[in-house]
Amino acid sequence: MIEENIAFVKQTIHAACMRANRNPEEVTLVAVSKTKPLCDIEEAIRCGMREFGENKVQELMEKMPKVSVPVQWHLIGHLQTNKVKYIIDQGLLIHSVDTVKLAEVIQKEAEKKQVDCNILLEVNVAGEESKFGFSPEEVLPAVETIARMSKVHIKGLMTIAPFVENPEENRSIFANLHKLSLDIKSRNIDNVNMSVLSMGMTNDYEVAIEEGATIVRVGTGIFGTRNYNI
Ligand SMILES: *Cc1c(COP(=O)(O)O)cnc(C)c1O
Repeated sequence: MIEENIAFVKQTIHAACMRANRNPEEVTLVAVSKTKPLCDIEEAIRCGMREFGENKVQELMEKMPKVSVPVQWHLIGHLQTNKVKYIIDQGLLIHSVDTVKLAEVIQKEAEKKQVDCNILLEVNVAGEESKFGFSPEEVLPAVETIARMSKVHIKGLMTIAPFVENPEENRSIFANLHKLSLDIKSRNIDNVNMSVLSMGMTNDYEVAIEEGATIVRVGTGIFGTRNYNI
């Protein structure tokens, strides 16, 4: 099933790129493997996948050393400052930097270990109370502060859109994140790159791609529904 799912998602990404006049190579598919066993990850690897996303530090640390080939890992869930030290030297892309304080801790640990760390800033575009992330107005001042951190490198923005029945309802959220990233890019801030827009999940990645996503994070659409009770 995983093989067929990956083929389907890739096809769908391709079609969305065609509709939006975009080069499919601009869009990276991250397979979100949270709660799924290693054998599922290995099957996805056999199908050519090399980008995987996890939302919990502990699960990520358990899985990382066990995969059979080198893959790029993405931390997509909320990161507590006290866990930064465990993952700082693993070459991750951290999608979920949601406070300047967290960036400061990443800088401190990265300096200690003499590594560089690529991050995205998580933006709560929809202003949902239940979600982490900077409000759109907070992003630019945060970027300006974090840009001065020598070991932390902003590569772009990420958002988690609300769950909606009709993905069209999230179009303006994706468009707004894109606009925000273009605004920041136009300021040419040193040590800030806005090439990554991480947005779109199983339910809405087509719309996200039409609105400029360069990373889509797809879990259910690749691995099937998650069971949190086992
Ligand atoms: C779980 C998760 C995803 C994947 O969600 P699906 O709807 O299963 O595709 C994407 N992004 C984040 C941040 C997640 O936590």
